[in-house]
Amino acid sequence: MAKPEEIYQCQTTNCGYLHDPDRGDRKGKIPKGTRFEDLPDDWKCPVCGASKKAFRPLGEANAAAGS
Ligand SMILES: [Zn+2]
Repeated sequence: MAKPEEIYQCQTTNCGYLHDPDRGDRKGKIPKGTRFEDLPDDWKCPVCGASKKAFRPLGEANAAAGS
């Protein structure tokens, strides 16, 4: 199971797609074990087509809520 800080969530409205490095992205031909940082710069959200800049790590949100 990936740590929250390794799972990135798409922040666009009505999307919320999660990039889990343990699962990869079959649609985008991203193999399992690929960290978000290691995705190609032109990778797009398979659900809404947003760029990597639209993603935030889950761990970041948790840290903000806990402080
Ligand atoms: Zn998306």
